[in-house]
Amino acid sequence: MGNTDVPEIRNYIGGDFVDHSSEDWIEVIGPATGEVFAMAPLSNEKDVDNAVKSAREAHENWSSLKISERSNWLDRIADSLELKFEEIANLECRDTGKPISLARSVDAARSVSNFRFFAGLLREIEEETFEMEDATNYVIQKSVGVCGLITPWNLPLYLLSWKVAPAIGMGNTVVCKPSELTPMTADLLMRVVHEVGLPEGVVNLVHGDGAGAGRPLVGHPGVDLVSFTGGTETGKAVASSAAPSFKKISLELGGKNSSIVFSDCDIESTVAGVVRSGFLNQGQVCLCGSRVLVEDSIYEEFKEKFIHSIEKLRIGDPKDESTDLGALISPEHLSKVEGYIELGLSEGGAILTGGTPDLSSEFDKGNWISPTVIEGLSPYSRCATEEIFGPVVTLHRFETEAEAILMANCTRYGLAGSVWTGDLERGKRVSEAIESGMIWVNSWLHRDLRVPFGGVKDSGVGREGGRWSLAFFSEAMNICVKHD
Ligand code: NAD
Repeated sequence: MGNTDVPEIRNYIGGDFVDHSSEDWIEVIGPATGEVFAMAPLSNEKDVDNAVKSAREAHENWSSLKISERSNWLDRIADSLELKFEEIANLECRDTGKPISLARSVDAARSVSNFRFFAGLLREIEEETFEMEDATNYVIQKSVGVCGLITPWNLPLYLLSWKVAPAIGMGNTVVCKPSELTPMTADLLMRVVHEVGLPEGVVNLVHGDGAGAGRPLVGHPGVDLVSFTGGTETGKAVASSAAPSFKKISLELGGKNSSIVFSDCDIESTVAGVVRSGFLNQGQVCLCGSRVLVEDSIYEEFKEKFIHSIEKLRIGDPKDESTDLGALISPEHLSKVEGYIELGLSEGGAILTGGTPDLSSEFDKGNWISPTVIEGLSPYSRCATEEIFGPVVTLHRFETEAEAILMANCTRYGLAGSVWTGDLERGKRVSEAIESGMIWVNSWLHRDLRVPFGGVKDSGVGREGGRWSLAFFSEAMNICVKHD
């Protein structure tokens, strides 16, 4: 038993909610108030082993279903999730400390649409053939087997559903390991899977931390593929545990993305877009534009409007419909973010706005910080090149297009970015020169689920999204048939 005053969630293995094998639990804490509101299992390798066995047993039957049947299952899951839309939003708001409006528009909406989207995409799969003079090549896509799916805390169900849907859609069975900091909507997904009656063992879930559950899952000989989203340092550990058994692997890692503002941009919409990109989800989105590069001739005007707009953001109770920014995920993460602000000062930066918000006593034990902007730092400084993953943005000046590109590329990361300009040719040209997986021109986080998603350099390996997900969660096999 965990803390008896609050609800306990359980692992989901072989179509049942089951007890974990140790007596150890994780306290699930609301970041806004510091309250413990649930207990989650601290699972170990025995639990992981049970989950992998269950997934392995289910694989043969599940992979032999027609793709249209699996696609129908995804639609059933989407329908059932949609009925729980408000519950998803409320749990995500409580578990992550993000504003309820964001939990609805981003987390709940995308979790449903991920299942719906992949259900539709699966129905469009066509067999590919390549004719030779005397033979025909048939390319088929077979399932890979058992997939280990590991996710972080910033967009819990959004990212888990992004992996589960294409993985099971392509005929794999899965073992999920959500972040130990935000396990509640993963539990909700298991309730949905249970309610719709998905064949047992197709989706399994083990709660726990990285050392006890994540690592044994990645290294398990019964796991054929690992899809990991999380930090770059963890990604290195995941890559090295997966390598000896040649598992198929996708790593979606950290980012330090530039928003590049040219003097010919539409200043009002650019300021709004760059504020959103810097501070959405308290800056805890891997795609956030946390370094803003502004052309010298409009630097002062942009800065004034940028700060003015940031200072209007409403920080506070995540449950309040009018809140723009909530709390950071944990006290440890808050200390990390504050450490980077101190580092920025020691590296010669000046804080233009920031501090701690003035909130009611209900939030005294929460993890609060105001959106912070630092100027005067070298674009090569640690504060301007390392991932902070919080509401901290650094401002820099550039004079030429070439200098902006050089500055955008001077980090170890290469995930995303945005370019703001009235000249769309320049927008495309600058985007192509940036070492990154994704760039938006005059927008940010404008997502089309069909396009590839992923990073270069230390931001990861591989692509997911649309047909890239279907390719990753399958093995292409060629059958060459010689004609008579
Ligand atoms: P994290 O790396 O600490 O944890 C991610 C997951 O990995 C958790 O479930 C954790 O329990 C597990 N884990 C930890 N150690 C492990 C190990 N040795 N083996 C296997 N699993 C292990 O990341 P986080 O703090 O939860 O998330 C924040 C990070 O995620 C940021 O760096 C952010 O940029 C990144 N992120 C990237 C993307 C993307 O798509 N590129 C999306 C969201 C978040």
